[in-house]
Amino acid sequence: MEVKSSELYSVQDFDKVPKIDGHVHYYTTDPIFIEYARQRNMRYISINVDFKDAGWPEKEEQLAISQYFIKEAPDVFAFIGAVPMCDPYSSICMSGVSAYIQHVLKIGAIGVKIWKNVGMKLRTENRLLMIDHPEFKGLLDFLEDKKIPLLGHFGEPKNCWLPLEEMTVNSDIKYFTKNPDYHMYLHPELPGYEAQIEARDNMLRQHPDLPFVGAHLASCEWSVDEIAARLDSYPNMMVDLAERVCHLQHQCIENYDKVRQFMIDFQDRLIYASDIIHFTDETYGEQIEEVKHRWESQWHFFTQGDLQTTWQVNGEFRGLALPKEVIDKIYFHNAFIAYPRLKYQFLPA
Ligand SMILES: [Zn+2]
Repeated sequence: MEVKSSELYSVQDFDKVPKIDGHVHYYTTDPIFIEYARQRNMRYISINVDFKDAGWPEKEEQLAISQYFIKEAPDVFAFIGAVPMCDPYSSICMSGVSAYIQHVLKIGAIGVKIWKNVGMKLRTENRLLMIDHPEFKGLLDFLEDKKIPLLGHFGEPKNCWLPLEEMTVNSDIKYFTKNPDYHMYLHPELPGYEAQIEARDNMLRQHPDLPFVGAHLASCEWSVDEIAARLDSYPNMMVDLAERVCHLQHQCIENYDKVRQFMIDFQDRLIYASDIIHFTDETYGEQIEEVKHRWESQWHFFTQGDLQTTWQVNGEFRGLALPKEVIDKIYFHNAFIAYPRLKYQFLPA
């Protein structure tokens, strides 16, 4: 690896460089995190999702919060609307979906999101409803025809199908310990990892003009070769890094050059994202600490070439020391390509 230090950003450059966190969940009307983002030269794309577990606000409340902040803080806040899903699922649900999507776009959404409950929770005729099921054809045709970007979270990290002790990163062990319903190793009767990925790929083959962003490294986080194969096959696909940077760090332990080359080869297709969740409760200080830590440690990983550690990964890995122009694309410009409705006010003054 030969990169001159003048071609790299420093750790201190973080506050100077305009950045977008392409996948957060801003579920409070408190502007405390907006103010923090402004201080750090960061902008948020907040993602709304339609599901009822986990104690998150209902989708109408999420939409109201988004509507509030695109008026109050358009310089740092944009949002992606939720595609509404009935749970339990019924076909009636899909009948009003395009009208609802037009409604959220009118409010200012820059795209729409489908969550992993498609493929992992919602059922029809007693089988899990996958994204390539004919039930979704009308919706996907509509998005493809109108060039409305779809952020899709389909499937889960491959670790989800492994016992806890075989998982590769500690954050997955923590998540699936807390969420056994989604730990597919415990549910061998349900579709496997390959079936989830195949349904998503099949959907993309059926909708070649759909502007698609694969959330969480498109659930191919375990192998940069697998992500690269999808990006090669589906030219309208981009991916966000939300909550999966640790999987790149894990792969750096054994395959450093390959990971770095992947980031350089696909510098036009990757969107930086933390997946931080901001909500109303007593822990504002802790939430600020958490987002500060993620932003700073991940910036360190992408911009510097020293040996690093994080609680999520067992073992030391080297930072990627990506050139400035690659960092600028991943942290800023690519979001405008993925989401053309992103407003000009996101550009620095
Ligand atoms: Zn998320």
